[in-house]
Amino acid sequence: MSSKPFGYVYDERMLGHECKYDSTMAECPKRMKLIYERLQKDKLLDGAVKIDAREANDSEIRLNHPQQLIDEIVSLNSTEKCEEYCKDKEILWTCENTNEAARVAIGGSIELVKAAMEGKIHNGFAMVRPPGHHSYGKVAQGYCIFNNVAIAAKYAIEKLEVKKVAIVDFDYHAGNGTYQSVKDESRIHLTSFHGHHFGAFWPFSRDYDYATNSQNTLFVPLNGTMNSEGDYVSVFHHVLLPMLEQFQPELILISAGFDSGYYDVMMEFGQGVKAHGYGHMARLLSQICPGKILAILEGGYHPYNYTESASMMVRGLLNLPLPRLDIPERISGALLETTWNILNHHSEWYPKLGERLKLLEHQQKELGLPQFAFDQTMFLGEKMRKMYDDMKKHRIVRTREWFPEMSDDQVAVCKQKIDEYIQEYEFTSEHPTPSESQLVAQCVWDEAARSDAFLQAIPFATALVQEFNAFVEGKRENMMICDRELYTEAVKSGVLEAHTPITTTRPE
Ligand SMILES: [Zn+2]
Repeated sequence: MSSKPFGYVYDERMLGHECKYDSTMAECPKRMKLIYERLQKDKLLDGAVKIDAREANDSEIRLNHPQQLIDEIVSLNSTEKCEEYCKDKEILWTCENTNEAARVAIGGSIELVKAAMEGKIHNGFAMVRPPGHHSYGKVAQGYCIFNNVAIAAKYAIEKLEVKKVAIVDFDYHAGNGTYQSVKDESRIHLTSFHGHHFGAFWPFSRDYDYATNSQNTLFVPLNGTMNSEGDYVSVFHHVLLPMLEQFQPELILISAGFDSGYYDVMMEFGQGVKAHGYGHMARLLSQICPGKILAILEGGYHPYNYTESASMMVRGLLNLPLPRLDIPERISGALLETTWNILNHHSEWYPKLGERLKLLEHQQKELGLPQFAFDQTMFLGEKMRKMYDDMKKHRIVRTREWFPEMSDDQVAVCKQKIDEYIQEYEFTSEHPTPSESQLVAQCVWDEAARSDAFLQAIPFATALVQEFNAFVEGKRENMMICDRELYTEAVKSGVLEAHTPITTTRPE
């Protein structure tokens, strides 16, 4: 245990950021409040030091955003203006308090970084909102105004002379804003685990597949649903940890979204990371950069999941005993395919990954199996992207009720599923590192693995395509920011060309 205290940021000014024209918004004040109350209840903040947040100034925000975006957010001084502003944005709501809350979120994140780099704290957690990882340049989107984590990383480099910073984003959604913010900055390394589903998942872009052109970026696109905490941690061992060992960051910022948690609001279409998985991921990162691991809150929407997950993550950051983690014998289908793809793609930049790849190839040979072959990755998002871009261009973005609220039954199912695994927790301080042979054995690529990958990925990708097609064919009222009525009007008046369904028949 460190003699230095854990640091945290919590400031009620960020609760003032609340959508005044729609009460169904998943990103809401209680997310932050419930996490804070849970950490208090679990006594995880006893002995910790509260780092005072403050409003960031314009020059700090300009580390990552142009003055134009800053001025736009400042000008939003009525509910009407706020909703009007969001009519050409992707999944964004604002209110009159947004400017203050967003500045406090950044100021809090920066102060936490300063406290860590000045050696005042050992690890920390900024409970902040609005979240930040989808925002970049002049683009506020995805509930995010300014990019808290990117600004914090750039502040460390520009103002505190930190040589290298790594960002690890395990939110279910792509750290797309963070990527756009840091892709040309070789002093920052970004890892993002995110739903991709062959591009049929927001932000519907090829940019977030594994084959990134930036050496400083590791993407783990998730094409399958319900990958477990053991799957995530396996990818840490195979790829992320060796990469970070080579990169040698002095500071690691976690974009801590808990919406990949087991039975968060997407239920069985989401990911399956049980709460203690977040603790284990935090603990492993602590080995790379002891004391300099700072989590910054992003998403997570089912209270029972995100409070449990945040509590476990903080236990990991405090190096307290965690429930035992199961490492799977084989990485789950689609993620195994992605792991092979990542190792192939990144091995020329990272010698340790090249060594790992050789071991895997040797194993294939020993088992008499053909070598893993790169395949042209399927991409389903083209028409979806075009539709979103059209909606924005014509300022006909739907600004309300993007997602149906969970029914009482669904809430109860999620709670029950989470309770089931909590009851099986066995706390221990012993967490052996999986052996090299165990890791290599996780990656056998045979006929069964190939069909598992396909079977795990297809149902959700199909559901996403069907959702789009149903909207285009007029059988659905909305598809997130796309509104049937606004769309029909625009097509009728000729400003918008009618969209066509995605067909799945193979060309001859
Ligand atoms: Zn998210």
